[in-house]
Amino acid sequence: MELVFEKHSAASGAANVPDPGPEAEALVPPELRRAAPPALPELSELDVVRHYLALSRRQVGVDSVFYPLGSCTMKYNPKLCEEAARLPGFARLHPHAPDELCQGMLALLWNLEQRLCEICGMDAFTLAPMAGAQGEWTGLLLVRAYHRARNDARTEVLVPDSAHGTNPASAAMAGFEVRAVASNDDGEVDLAALRNAVGPKTAALMLTNPNTLGLFETRIREIAAVLHQAGALLYYDGANLNAICGVARPGDMGFDIVHVNVHKTFATPHGGGGPGAGPVGVKARIAPFLPAPRIVREGERFARAEASPQSIGRVGAFGGNAGILIRAYAYLAMLGREGVTRVAQHAVLAARYLAARLASDFPSAYDRPCMHEFVATPSAAILGKGVKTLDIAKRLIDCGFHPPTVYFPMIVHEALMVEPTETETKERLDAFVAAMHVIAAEAMATPEKLKTAPQNAPVGRVDEVKAARELVLTYDMAR
Ligand SMILES: *Cc1c(COP(=O)(O)O)cnc(C)c1O
Repeated sequence: MELVFEKHSAASGAANVPDPGPEAEALVPPELRRAAPPALPELSELDVVRHYLALSRRQVGVDSVFYPLGSCTMKYNPKLCEEAARLPGFARLHPHAPDELCQGMLALLWNLEQRLCEICGMDAFTLAPMAGAQGEWTGLLLVRAYHRARNDARTEVLVPDSAHGTNPASAAMAGFEVRAVASNDDGEVDLAALRNAVGPKTAALMLTNPNTLGLFETRIREIAAVLHQAGALLYYDGANLNAICGVARPGDMGFDIVHVNVHKTFATPHGGGGPGAGPVGVKARIAPFLPAPRIVREGERFARAEASPQSIGRVGAFGGNAGILIRAYAYLAMLGREGVTRVAQHAVLAARYLAARLASDFPSAYDRPCMHEFVATPSAAILGKGVKTLDIAKRLIDCGFHPPTVYFPMIVHEALMVEPTETETKERLDAFVAAMHVIAAEAMATPEKLKTAPQNAPVGRVDEVKAARELVLTYDMAR
């Protein structure tokens, strides 16, 4: 095959644009010109299809395996919600379409806000933030705006030592100093430590309930009172809402601001960092500070209202991640009041079942009933063989399971954090238990086998220490 530079005809080229023809080619010095045409790969369509299908089969997700990733709520989400998001009337809507042309979408979003208010016990919601972490950041800007409006310059945000890393990060991003609060031996916020930390500088405490140990903060009312008496706010990290939705409401516990990780709790398959949504709900006294646009109802009509004078402004483009919000609405509409409650009940039941059945080889870090997830550690006998939590996690891959979260929360040594969710059958949970007990037996008999796991995966064990110490980033043009 020969590469030919064709001269543009006068008809196709604009009159004042020089023709890239043989004259142009002649401008390139001969030593820089190709001696032979480029060796472009030639592949049949079928080969390309097979290549990408083979790659897609290596993809692991809730549609392929049990995925008990604690703190992440990796549950099966109804495919019907995907279909709802794909309805052309929603999917083809332009974000700048005038309100008159998107009444259906606005009605749906308004309705979703009402449902989230009801589930969380809040007075108003914004759907604008596009991730849990962005919800946190938005919530903390609200904390700042609330205190500033009262001429109260507060500089500190308290975060328990069991908190998710996004909590201190969001607080710092919003301009606060972060102060850690210790947990007690029951895995809850230590009230004495909290009382010591709270003062006139405290803007808010960020709390997950159930917390990241999968334990319900039983003294949440007292915690709220400590904060409120000091003029500070209580912020709810909603990542674990799946454990209590339809059963208990953060608003009734004393929380002032919440974010909901829609992609964990309400029907968006998540992983790999997105896409998601992190709606933020507030009590009435904080509502004037909510970001724009607000969705308002005027009789039978819906409209997007611009920022009120006290609003923190916009936190992102348009009104939020619409496709994700449609899925959440479809999910809530489909389940109804009772269905939402059953989600939480079954999620807790599944976690307690697993915790009890695994206890002999993987005892829970705290000796009390868990909520939707639990944090366990390998038994002293297993650890005594030099086997680490990481080895157990890697071996699970060989058994056809996605490993649970490991080494989080950081206050538990060799942590193994399991969240089965409500969508797995008892048979699947039993299969996981059986695999874990087989691995425990292997740890005692042939610990070396676990050190080299996974053996059956497309990619074996990477040398993580070497990778961290000798980071090599390459971009190979030739490949
Ligand atoms: C997942 C999670 C977050 C962060 O949410 P993203 O949506 O991933 O940004 C915050 N807190 C807890 C406890 C979480 O599990």
